[in-house]
Amino acid sequence: MRKKYVLGNWKMNHGVNEIKEYFDNFTYESNSAYVGVCPQTLHLEMAENLSGPNIKIGAQNCAYENSGAFTGEASPVALKELGVDFTLVGHSERRQFFGETNESCLKRIEKAHENKLLTVYCIGESLEEFEAGKTLDVLTEQLKTGLFPILDKVLGNIVIAYEPVWAIGTGKTATVEIITEVSAGIRKILGTHSEPATGISLLYGGSVKPANSEEIAGIADVDGVLVGGASLKVEDFEGIAKAF
Ligand code: PEP
Repeated sequence: MRKKYVLGNWKMNHGVNEIKEYFDNFTYESNSAYVGVCPQTLHLEMAENLSGPNIKIGAQNCAYENSGAFTGEASPVALKELGVDFTLVGHSERRQFFGETNESCLKRIEKAHENKLLTVYCIGESLEEFEAGKTLDVLTEQLKTGLFPILDKVLGNIVIAYEPVWAIGTGKTATVEIITEVSAGIRKILGTHSEPATGISLLYGGSVKPANSEEIAGIADVDGVLVGGASLKVEDFEGIAKAF
């Protein structure tokens, strides 16, 4: 059975005091879903004390080498040492603003796996690509180049997050129809790799909030959500988690 995930991406938000308060107020206990948040790299040091059965701690990115001359990167070895459980790779903001490519994502996923970090590989099309009807072509390329060459190796330690770029931080959620159609399409693309690949957990991300989480949770091919803005408030994030 596919595992459920409710993950929060705090991006470059929250300071130490806000994080302490967040975890003091985080009382939600899920008996079914893997619930986790991704603070800024600078705050991951707090992860060791906070990570536990109720909440996992993730990094927003992970380097594709264990050590060396890679200024500004976060080593997967160091992340593991700090008690980090998982990492995002290929978030659209990394692709848009920091030149992340499918090729570099592939290397990051491999290193994360070698260091026993679960990877949440983010894929998604831009508004222009969506309007041109190219969504599945873009996703195929992101999967074939960014994941398939190492998929057999990382199977069991990889989750995919479908995040249409036009729905991230815009307040525009993709409709249930769009998410249903695209997530079925992603499962088909995974099927072109192998049958076991269709068993990978698939998340949706893009303006998820408590008000729309129930209907997203009802989509058969979707196994959870990756949440940005609404994960910053404990009560909203817990509200979303309850839907899963
Ligand atoms: C994200 O950053 O992955 C995201 C989905 O953001 P938001 O929920 O704010 O759209």
